[in-house]
Amino acid sequence: MAYDGGSSFPEHEWSAGFVPVLNGLEGVDGAYLDDVAAVKRALEQWNLHAALRATWPADPAGALARYQIPLPAETLTPLFDAEQGDRLRQAVLNGEDLVDLPLALRRYLAFMRELLRWRDHYRQTCEPAHPLMRAWWHRQVARIRSQLGPTKADAIVHAPVAFELNSGCSVGCWFCALSAPALQAVWPYSPAHRQQWQAILRVTHEVIGPAAAQGFCYWATEPFDNPDYERFLLDFHAVLGRFPMTTTALPMRDAKRTHALIEQHRRLDPGLDRFSVLSTGIAARIHAEFSPRQLLLTELLPQNKGANPKFRKARAGRALRAKTGPNQLDQFSKAPTTIACVSGFLINPCEHRVQLMTPYPVSPSSPQGFQVLATGQFSSAEQLRDLLESMIASQMPMDLSWQAEVRLRSDLVVSSPTANQLRFKSAFTSLNFGGVTGATQFAALLSQGAMTAAELAEAREQALDIPPEQSFFMIDQLRQHGLLDETVFARSSSAYRDSDGSCNERAGG
Ligand code: SF4
Repeated sequence: MAYDGGSSFPEHEWSAGFVPVLNGLEGVDGAYLDDVAAVKRALEQWNLHAALRATWPADPAGALARYQIPLPAETLTPLFDAEQGDRLRQAVLNGEDLVDLPLALRRYLAFMRELLRWRDHYRQTCEPAHPLMRAWWHRQVARIRSQLGPTKADAIVHAPVAFELNSGCSVGCWFCALSAPALQAVWPYSPAHRQQWQAILRVTHEVIGPAAAQGFCYWATEPFDNPDYERFLLDFHAVLGRFPMTTTALPMRDAKRTHALIEQHRRLDPGLDRFSVLSTGIAARIHAEFSPRQLLLTELLPQNKGANPKFRKARAGRALRAKTGPNQLDQFSKAPTTIACVSGFLINPCEHRVQLMTPYPVSPSSPQGFQVLATGQFSSAEQLRDLLESMIASQMPMDLSWQAEVRLRSDLVVSSPTANQLRFKSAFTSLNFGGVTGATQFAALLSQGAMTAAELAEAREQALDIPPEQSFFMIDQLRQHGLLDETVFARSSSAYRDSDGSCNERAGG
């Protein structure tokens, strides 16, 4: 389902004089767009330049003049001032309009509120239609929310599929959380590949459902490394009905090409794109090349030296290595983090490979911030369909097997505050289950770990005469809430059939 900012734009926003922007800029008053775009660009400058942030407190007007920001300081003070900025952020999260602010800033904040609604809509439409995959997907959403906390978790859309059209990446960022290897090959849009690509898209739609349209065509790859990238996107749009988002670190490699891609996106199916900005020099070229209005629907991600620490790179993959000295243990961030956003399939036709993956907080077992639960090779769309279906069947069973290992996630602490209450605490959430007979023993058994569902049920039956079905129901409830370690779980459930009929154990993540 495409985002329809018009029909879902709240009545109170309309009546306060705000209008939807994410559905396209056609028909929106030019002065309104200029206000939003000017504040957006000023904020980009703020986030890119340490010197602007440093000189602002003593001389706001001078700082704005030096960075050619054509807005009065009064408009930007509420945004740039640390204390007032927190008030603004909170108001956006609460969906509130602050009527005391300058009009241009209020219009920009209305755009921010629309972006949050758009992101929620995006995540909702990523829900797969396949019942097993849908239940699995919801477990991943619940797990990440309790592992990262709601603020970080809400930024993860859990796309059910992503595609890579190259093997490796030419950019080689030192901070690459996905540790993308050097570019090895691109997948050209030959007549045979065109047919194969369209068939792959149809297969993903048939298996996953309409949510396949929420996928995108990059992961540990740079979209513009593939000279035919846009042709693949046009097929994506024709088959799945949506023009996918692009994130590129090379917007200035061929500015004409970037302009054309942005314009095509707006024309066919307006939505967001993103530029990763690797240096202030590139930022200056981007700002000289694209007007604020042209970049209204393109987010700039400052990755340059001196960028606002709020955009600090996730300590994952190569960034983790870069922070770790020789003979040192990995220097993980204290706060759990990940940049991964796919709970589903990563399909690379260039390498004939499909992986089932889901985000995990960066740790020794997930140094890149995700886990690969299964991997396989395919050489045709039909083989891909078999692989997707066998991965779903083996890694996402609806019902637990009695022999499945029941292990609590390692970040959880279980307790029984009362004789019939179970409590599961993560760093961010606390979940209580009431009416649990023998809760104290249950908590102790779960803390011990390394038991199968059958062993756990038997222990409860022997100690307290609890029918095994009751234990099994409780274990299933824990699983549905994402409290069990599914990586253990998926491994114990079975291997799956590879494209050549051989069996392939879960790959490490
Ligand atoms: S961050 Fe993106 S552009 Fe940079 S190396 Fe990794 S995949 Fe390539």
